[in-house]
Amino acid sequence: MTQQYGITLLPGDGIGPEILAVTVEVLNVIGKQFDLSFKFQEGLIGGAAIDETGEPLPKETLDLCRNSDAVLLAAIGGYKWDNLPRQQRPETGLLGLRAGLNLFANLRPATILPQLIDASSLKKEVVEGVDIMVVRELTGGVYFGQPKGIFTTETGEKRGVNTMAYTESEIDRIAHVAFEASRKRKSKLCSVDKANVLDVSQLWRDRVIAVSEKYPDIELSHMYVDNAAMQLVRNPKQFDTIITGNLFGDILSDAAAMLTGSIGMLPSASLGSSGPGVFEPVHGSAPDIAGQDKANPLAQVLSAAMMLRYGLNEAAAADKIEQGVLAVLDQGYRTGDIMSLNMKQVGCQEMGQVLLKVLEG
Ligand code: NAD
Repeated sequence: MTQQYGITLLPGDGIGPEILAVTVEVLNVIGKQFDLSFKFQEGLIGGAAIDETGEPLPKETLDLCRNSDAVLLAAIGGYKWDNLPRQQRPETGLLGLRAGLNLFANLRPATILPQLIDASSLKKEVVEGVDIMVVRELTGGVYFGQPKGIFTTETGEKRGVNTMAYTESEIDRIAHVAFEASRKRKSKLCSVDKANVLDVSQLWRDRVIAVSEKYPDIELSHMYVDNAAMQLVRNPKQFDTIITGNLFGDILSDAAAMLTGSIGMLPSASLGSSGPGVFEPVHGSAPDIAGQDKANPLAQVLSAAMMLRYGLNEAAAADKIEQGVLAVLDQGYRTGDIMSLNMKQVGCQEMGQVLLKVLEG
């Protein structure tokens, strides 16, 4: 029987609509092959939503997302909305979406594809074979802790405050996600914290150790964040799955991503305990190349593969998309961002067409 899925599409701004259009075609082809039927509904978010409704995340969009099986988001933002007050900025829509769907876990793979190894800024022998998954806590920590704000002290001086705070339950639930994710990989989990200085990190470490008792098959290690930053560029192959808090994860996942050298290739998944996850490329809306058919659609396509794997439990369909992407790269097709000598440069749409050909072939 055909399995039906309701997918909310959020094209957003800049290159978003271009890369999402390619991805929808890919999903339709894959759907036919794996007996899956996708019912797509489109919602407004980011600058596009501001222009139409005055707010970056209209209630209708959040409702649409809540009532679907998964959300495929492209990217938001652009120069046009950069000077609006924070509450009306496109990024506020993104934070609202994460909070509204209670997405507390962000999964970001950083995999070196042999075809793109020269795109890395590190030496080939350092990055060859790197395959890391960073699991970042997304809705707690210093970005959300109270008190926060800029206050005036008794002496009239301004004082900026943010609070890094985690409760036991917040740590436990992200730890479970990370142990489960590492079980689908090489069963090695490294927890990154700053327990030598921060009390909140000491609690983090204690809870991760407590949760690890339920996962005796997973090899758990701990690393201070400053060392982890160093090790990521010194010997990234030592990592399999990394679990860390919101701030450290924000920074380390970008550093890990850059090992691959190609932002146009990186997908991500944001998950909650139940309900739909959001699957989106790591890159932004690339306003500098929007509307020019220059965008690399593969990070968005690989986000759809993550949606199939982590959101819908359709691993075979996810595998097929990932293999298709590798095959297209093997054939030498490259968008401008990953172009190198003797390769065939194509635009966003043509990259989609060659991928469809491979998948249908
Ligand atoms: P960006 O990722 O949009 O672009 C950085 C550089 O990478 C640009 O030169 C761009 O052309 C290139 N690039 C990015 N994606 C590409 C792709 N798929 N194919 C080819 N080249 C690609 O980051 P930025 O320039 O710092 O930000 C632009 C806007 O995007 C800002 O408004 C920012 O707030 C927003 N942003 C949104 C998200 C998101 O939606 N999750 C993430 C980061 C930035």
